[in-house]
Amino acid sequence: MTQKDLYAVLEIEKNSSAEDVKKSFRRLAMQYHPDKNKEDNAEEKFKEISFAYNILSDPEKRNRYDSFGIDGVSGDQANYSDFSNFGGLGDIFDAFFQGATNQKQSNLQGTDISIELKISLEESHNGVKKQVLYERNTSCKTCKNSGQKEGTDLGKCNECGGSGEIRRVERQLFGQFVNVMSCNMCTGQGKVVTDPCDECSGFGIKLDQTEKSIDIPKGIRTGQKIRVNSFGNSGIRGGTAGDLYIHLNIPEHETFKRVEDNLIYELPVSIPNALLGFEEDIPLINQEKNHMMKFKPGVQHTEVFRIKNKGMPKLNSSSYGDLIVIANIIIPKKISKEEKKLIDTLRQTLKVESKKIPEELSVLHKLGINFD
Ligand SMILES: [Zn+2]
Ligand SMILES: [Zn+2]
Repeated sequence: MTQKDLYAVLEIEKNSSAEDVKKSFRRLAMQYHPDKNKEDNAEEKFKEISFAYNILSDPEKRNRYDSFGIDGVSGDQANYSDFSNFGGLGDIFDAFFQGATNQKQSNLQGTDISIELKISLEESHNGVKKQVLYERNTSCKTCKNSGQKEGTDLGKCNECGGSGEIRRVERQLFGQFVNVMSCNMCTGQGKVVTDPCDECSGFGIKLDQTEKSIDIPKGIRTGQKIRVNSFGNSGIRGGTAGDLYIHLNIPEHETFKRVEDNLIYELPVSIPNALLGFEEDIPLINQEKNHMMKFKPGVQHTEVFRIKNKGMPKLNSSSYGDLIVIANIIIPKKISKEEKKLIDTLRQTLKVESKKIPEELSVLHKLGINFD
């Protein structure tokens, strides 16, 4: 056993507060824990620190030590040589700092519920109010959530004597710890159902259909979710309710493809139109009127045209993405005899030059392929 002054061991003053004792121990234990410190005297030092902490952190022992010195606490010395019970530093602090605290936990809380909600791209574009219908546990109205038959009182829990807590004294290396746990029998309430409510069989909750109106914000995307506080399962006997999570699913649109906040519209273009230029009505989402667009002669395959602010609204913002029009020049696989004749005449005059393709027309350039 150490003959040193325990205050000196913990590097604190005689009048240091309980908080200082804890703080200093924490710091020194970190420094000398044998898992961390490989110096020869680390283990010895760690035992000293632990012993000092064991005495000085306990008001009664600290008093005895102050009055009678080391002899007053000699009976409290434990065997500090075995560290195998402790995994790492985390465990050791758990043992010290949480072992004696109240771990009462309420397991009466209701669980969360997740549901899927399908909306259209149009609805996401405009924002929409939706009614969702789902099943959840709600408070039993007959017994007002208590589980006990109307007009009778809940009984005292025999397991915990009505305190809701089970106390267990645990011997650990550094002394005794009182572990306070929530009573399983009454789930920490101290009271139990003695005469179950007929409506809910004593659970205080009932599976029921719930209808809830949900405001879906503009611009929401597939995979995003909306949380509705306390609309999950009700807790048992007054426990807080869980939350409702609505997972949005927006199926593919037949006209537009959404990329981030932009909408893509693939415009099929015939060869004559591409050559001669043309006018085309481009559909807009949620608008009766189309957007008339003029294309100059020489439209290229995959050429991109942008219609500003006609895409999707940005979530929680007043701005919009763009509508992106991509020209897709359709080359027919089959043509009539007559068309063949006409095209053949063209072949005589409409030729491509075999010299280097300009960069703006290069397929490699468009695809971003580089053979460096
Ligand atoms: Zn009931
Ligand atoms: Zn109990």
